[in-house]
Amino acid sequence: MAQILNGNLVRDQIKAECLPRIKRLVDKAGRPPGLAVVLVGDDAASAVYVRGKTKTAEELGIHHETITPDASLSTEDLLAIIADLNARADIDGILVQLPLPPQIDAQKALLAVDPRKDVDGFHPYNVGLLSTGRPGLRPCTPAGVIEILKHYEIPIAGRNAVVVGRSDIVGKPMAMLLLQENATVTVCHSRTRDLPGVCRGAEILVAAIGRAAMLGEEHIAPGAVVIDVGVNRVSTRAEAVRIFSASRLAVFDRLGSLLVGDVHPGAMERLASAYTPVPGGVGPLTIAMLMRNTIEAAERRTC
Ligand code: NDP
Repeated sequence: MAQILNGNLVRDQIKAECLPRIKRLVDKAGRPPGLAVVLVGDDAASAVYVRGKTKTAEELGIHHETITPDASLSTEDLLAIIADLNARADIDGILVQLPLPPQIDAQKALLAVDPRKDVDGFHPYNVGLLSTGRPGLRPCTPAGVIEILKHYEIPIAGRNAVVVGRSDIVGKPMAMLLLQENATVTVCHSRTRDLPGVCRGAEILVAAIGRAAMLGEEHIAPGAVVIDVGVNRVSTRAEAVRIFSASRLAVFDRLGSLLVGDVHPGAMERLASAYTPVPGGVGPLTIAMLMRNTIEAAERRTC
């Protein structure tokens, strides 16, 4: 039977490891690490994500503040907010919640964050550190995937890893991190020929696509480790019938919608040697890694 890689468990361990580091920082610097989140406008999903982040910061004793400028804010106004946070001694991490309203130049905003405070790891400076194998702040979701693999002692070095998706946030940094762990890495995208064939060559298959249960049995080699980063909401019954087992379908009928990853859950169960479920796999790690990045940024600034 396939092993389920429990992200909640790994998250709790990472959070527990954060506590003594926070205490050391308080003892040394006289203040806890500080995280500032800039949440522009009133996007409901973004607000939920930000609440999750600040709740965890609160729980750990990390100072946090959320700046909520109006959706009509100009790029210049946002740059001024970021400049102010860059200059503040009590703020170690700055996170500009995406997506930003269309009138704002998101690239300019992300470039304006001091790379030492870039706890999302999206600044080109940190991307460069990652791609040249130097220490730096790593993007939270792919860094969380590496934590899961290490926690479950899944060997990475020398193994064939296939990453489906090449976004700057997940796919590309995921590939770089796996490469750093000495995997042989292939990156797939919407123009890849014979996606099933390439995926079947994976001993470690990472899906970061954003399409409900797109990868099925034809994509998974028997015994592969499957990491499903995708988070998709299924809300039509026809789609639910294609994806869910009878017991999950009953839950779907009760709730009207359910989350699923990019990999068909039944296919993972049948073929993988181990896999991350959705929800409860990769998702919980992202916020924990953000907390760890904030602590790391604080340690670098105070030590
Ligand atoms: P993007 O939309 O930025 O990237 C999707 C990638 O998938 C692109 O590279 C795209 O290729 C590729 N793709 C799309 N369709 C196909 C196809 N038919 N065949 C092969 N490749 C395809 O998404 P993100 O990377 O931001 O997110 C991916 C998923 O991960 C989403 O479901 C998102 O919700 C989830 N996510 C989860 C997080 C968590 O904490 N668990 C955090 C961040 C994201 P191309 O480049 O050619 O267009």
